[in-house]
Amino acid sequence: MTDSCIFCKIVSASRNASVLDEAKATIVYHDEQVTAFRDTHPVGPTHILIVPNKHIESVNALEPEDEPLIGHLFTVARKLAEAEGIAKGGYRLITNTGPNGGQTIFHLHVHLIGGQRMRYPMG
Ligand code: 5GP
Ligand code: ZN
Repeated sequence: MTDSCIFCKIVSASRNASVLDEAKATIVYHDEQVTAFRDTHPVGPTHILIVPNKHIESVNALEPEDEPLIGHLFTVARKLAEAEGIAKGGYRLITNTGPNGGQTIFHLHVHLIGGQRMRYPMG
């Protein structure tokens, strides 16, 4: 947990209702490894952020021991896509990394976006 990190606050809020006021988020899934909540500025009918509960700054900070965690995070993404009814039609998973990647919150997260046909180019 990093005090200044909004996503750490949301992870903590999903465990402890007393801090919900500080970190407003609609939690859609939580387990011992990851938390998923709706993006405050959705770019599609479904826009969920899936984050590891432990603070990892970005893909650049991943260590080999994080591999099971990241695998689990993708399994959760698949289950949430099914729960949202977008699995069959398809969806997009995005992880922005660093300033040039468009990362604005420096707590690793995967965007699960779907419910509409995605446009190209990616940017
Ligand atoms: P990034 O640009 O780092 O890939 O994505 C950060 C995402 O977090 C953005 O889509 C932004 O809308 C979302 N976001 C930023 N602050 C909050 C917040 O306090 N709560 C929620 N639920 N989403 C947030
Ligand atoms: Zn964090």
